[in-house]
Order: sequence, then structure tokens, then C-alpha cells
Amino acid sequence: MEKVLLVRYTEIHLKGLNRPYFERALVDNMKRALRGLEPRIEREHGRIYVRNIREEDFDEAADRLTRVFGIHSLSPAVAVDKDWETVVSAAGELMEKALASASAQPSFKVFARRSDKHYFMNSDEINKELGGRMLERFPRLHVDVHKPEIKLSVEIRDMAYVYCEEIPGANGMPTGTAGKASLLISGGIDSPVAGYMMAKRGLTLSAVHFYSYPYTSERARDKVVDLTKLVSRYAGEIRLYLVPFTEIQLAIYEKCPEKETTVLMRRLMMRIAQMLAEKEGAQALITGESLGQVASQTLEALGCTNDAVSMPVFRPLIGFDKDEIMDIARRIGTYETSILPYEDCCTVFVPKHPVTKPKLDELRRSEAAVDWTEMIERAIAGTELLTVK
Ligand code: ATP
Ligand code: MG
Repeated sequence: MEKVLLVRYTEIHLKGLNRPYFERALVDNMKRALRGLEPRIEREHGRIYVRNIREEDFDEAADRLTRVFGIHSLSPAVAVDKDWETVVSAAGELMEKALASASAQPSFKVFARRSDKHYFMNSDEINKELGGRMLERFPRLHVDVHKPEIKLSVEIRDMAYVYCEEIPGANGMPTGTAGKASLLISGGIDSPVAGYMMAKRGLTLSAVHFYSYPYTSERARDKVVDLTKLVSRYAGEIRLYLVPFTEIQLAIYEKCPEKETTVLMRRLMMRIAQMLAEKEGAQALITGESLGQVASQTLEALGCTNDAVSMPVFRPLIGFDKDEIMDIARRIGTYETSILPYEDCCTVFVPKHPVTKPKLDELRRSEAAVDWTEMIERAIAGTELLTVK
């Protein structure tokens, strides 16, 4: 008897001729996620089998795979010889385990699939036979074909695969199949969620963070590194650029109209982010903005921010309520880190009365009154690059 993780994948089947490319990317990402556990990964007929995992690593392997995009669900299965009595006894063992955590009189149903068309029973016959044997052995059970509490699945292929459990996957598209984009990451709740969502659509991420020593602390910066690490559990390796922003921020504060400072700061962040993204081979920027959430996220302000760059800007949270964003942050495990209290450079320099409907020509004029070229060059020269995984 061998334990195997049986993996089902998602939308990849929509991709026609590109399908092998998406499948290969998924398998590569799975290998990366399972690094150190020495898996043997086999792809066959729309399924992926993960073999050779040590007994003590099995749960860990399953857990890691729940964060790999492109996986619809996975089932820890046992693979046994197709000999009928062997199948029945393996099913009995699994059923015994399932019963340990089931209700007093649980219902069940057998789901048989037969890819080996030479097998001596067809799937209906397997359903009936195996169902009968389970009822004989476990009198607590009864059959419910509509809403069974326990789903006992048997797949007859090269071997017989038997399982009771289906663990939901992260869905989405394999990371890396949609190109690369650069995430503007702050220490807040929203931007890590935004990165997660775009990685889920297949993008490889790089990230940019702007900090303002000494107005923001070392711990605020560490928090961003930690958040990037948490996102990388889903998105894979992330190259994180840490940009010193104090000089520019002070110049905005001293030389531009106070009410415009927030949007001007956003424009300069975007400009620098785009320059770094181009260097990195990224083709779009990602932010955690959501319409109307704060003064810099009105339609007018977003328009003024976009005007600073030529790359597409993805804002996957644009139509989300804060509650909905927080729910995702909790689910993906970034929330607890995001709410740590360290200040962000945006909060240190907030104007008392920010414009909510900035006028683009006025902003451009204020921005043009200062020569930013050398300050931007210095910021980029002082940028530190970390590889986060
Ligand atoms: P978040 O929770 O992501 O901080 P927020 O609701 O606090 O978002 P803002 O502070 O206005 O909103 O920032 C909007 C977006 O701008 C962020 O989601 C992020 O993408 C980007 N951003 C803000 N501050 C920084 C920073 N210091 N470095 C990099 N990107 C930033
Ligand atoms: Mg913020």
C-alpha cells in the first residue's frame, strides 16, 4: 500500500493548445512548493499524482499544496493493487478512519471511476459491490446518494486509488503563466491581498516598498518584508525593492501645496515603481486601492495617479468593501501581521484637508515646479533588493 496525493486542477482545461504549457507550469510550481520533501510528481489523464512522500511529511505536503494556484482540490489517497479483496480492505480501513470523526449514524456513498476498461466490474457494479461490503462491515452506516456525509471514492487505473477526503485548493491559474507585475506593497491590509489576487490569476510578482527613515521605523520595514514572505507562500519567490523615500517626501511636503501632497506622493511612487518594474521585466503595476476608501482613492485621484505612468495599473480590490478585503486577508494569513501598529510613510505625512477631487492640470503644475530627476535617481541608487521566499 502506497500513500499518494491525488491533485485535480482548474481552468487549465480551457486553454486548448496551450494546455501542456499550463500543466508544466503547475507541476513546476508544485515541485517548488514541495521542496525538501522529495516528491515524485506524475501527470496523467487530467490528474496529477504526488508520490514518494514520507508518511511523516504527508500532511505538510498536502498543506503546502493548498497554496499552489491552479489546484482545484486534492485528495490524500491510498494506491493498492486492483485485486478486489485488496480494494475492499483498503476502503474498509479508510472508512474506519472517516467514521472516527463522523456523526453517530453517518450516510455514505461510493463514487467509482474506472479508467481501466478491462477491469472485471464497471463503475455501477463497483458502487453496488463496495457499498454492500461497507454496510456489512459497518452497521452504523446507511446509504444516501444525494447528500452523503462520507464520500468513498475508488478510481481504477494502473492501480486502485481509494480516498474519502477532498481538500479544497487555492484555484486560479498557475503562477508565472500570465507574465510579471510589480506590487506596490505597504504595511497595510489591502496591498498584500491585492498581490495575492493577481498572483492567483497567474502573474509572477515583484514588489516595491517606499519607506521614510527616520519618520518610519525599522520595524515598519520588517513588517513589509514579513508580509511579502506571507504572500510568497502563494505567489512563489518575490523580488522586493526597498526604496528610500524620505528626501522626496520632504520635498513634496516643503514645496507643494499641502492639500495635494497625498496625490503627488502617490504619483511619485508610481513613477519610481514603473522605472523599477521596467528594469525587472514587469509589465504592469498592482495596488491595493479600493474606490472611495480614502481621499486618494476617489475616481479623480485615481485618474491623477494613473496619469503619472504608462503601464497598466491593476487594482483588483477596486470594487471590494473593507470587510470583504479583511476576510480574504484573514483567510490567506496576512491580516494579523497587517494590523501590527507600525506607521507607514503615507500616514506620517497626511495633510489635514486633502483634495478629494484633484485637478490634473493643477497637480501637474505643482509637480513640474520641482525638479525631481536627481531625487528620483538618488532614491533608485539607494534601493535595496531582497529576494523573499
Ligand atoms: P494598504 O492597506 O495596502 O496600505 P490603504 O488602504 O492604506 O492600503 P493607501 O495607504 O492610500 O491605502 O495606499 C494605497 C495603495 O498604495 C496601497 O494599497 C499600496 O498598493 C500603495 N502604497 C501605499 N503606501 C505604500 C508604500 N509605502 N510603499 C509601496 N506602496 C504603497
Ligand atoms: Mg496604507
